[in-house]
Amino acid sequence: TSALTIRQLTKTYGNGFEALKGIDLDVAEGDFFALLGPNGAGKSTTIGILSTLVNKTGGTVEVFGHDLDRDPSGLKRCLGVVPQEFNFNQFEKPFDILVAQAGYYGIPAGVARGRAEKYLTELGLWDKRNVASRMLSGGMKRRLMIARALIHQPRLLILDEPTAGVDIELRRSMWSFLTGLNQQGITIILTTHYLEEAEQLCRNIGIIDHGRIVEHTSMRELLMQL
Ligand code: ADP
Ligand code: ADP
Repeated sequence: TSALTIRQLTKTYGNGFEALKGIDLDVAEGDFFALLGPNGAGKSTTIGILSTLVNKTGGTVEVFGHDLDRDPSGLKRCLGVVPQEFNFNQFEKPFDILVAQAGYYGIPAGVARGRAEKYLTELGLWDKRNVASRMLSGGMKRRLMIARALIHQPRLLILDEPTAGVDIELRRSMWSFLTGLNQQGITIILTTHYLEEAEQLCRNIGIIDHGRIVEHTSMRELLMQL
């Protein structure tokens, strides 16, 4: 089964800048995939389109067979996205943020509270469940974003630079958390600047540069070329 299929995806911003010039990408169910590329290559634009924050100009996107244009709500149900910026209400508490997020998906309150407890515990945030989230450290806020993206139990999780600015110890524990999710069958795509992160976690990679995919291969093949 294909988790993500992207065909001829283009994005021209309002100022005329062509950020994506016809991206093709295939990620299989169960994969752990890295989207690599220099700053400005188009990684965040691609993720923005998947999370429906950015309107695409052309092309098609499917997540587990749900087409972004024809079935956006079906697509959203099987997709969790962790953007780079902290975009939760910093005055709300982690537990409440997760329960409210579950509400958007129509998840019953009792189930939502159970899942909030599960993910806050697994991500080491249970102690902080009732603290205003602006009080959390950067690494804690990042983990809160991951918990929020998981609350509806998506089959595909996409993370934009999940460990940027995170110290090495926390990075390692986030790696083992993500590896555990992948072993449970969740397909994961991440963007990263750290080649080591991609090397540790990912089986397949796509390299994007100037809005085009310039390489689509396995991690093993890539390392043999270096
Ligand atoms: P769209 O074409 O998707 O409607 P716009 O061109 O209207 O997008 O821009 C959306 C937002 O991104 C605007 O608020 C704009 O100020 C901001 N923006 C403009 N240029 C850049 C850039 N180079 N990098 C990041 N954000 C930008
Ligand atoms: P990456 O995530 O790979 O660093 P982005 O997708 O953020 O790349 O940006 C790709 C290109 O599109 C960059 O040159 C960026 O300046 C430009 N860009 C991003 N957002 C906007 C916008 N809203 N308006 C105009 N240009 C943008």
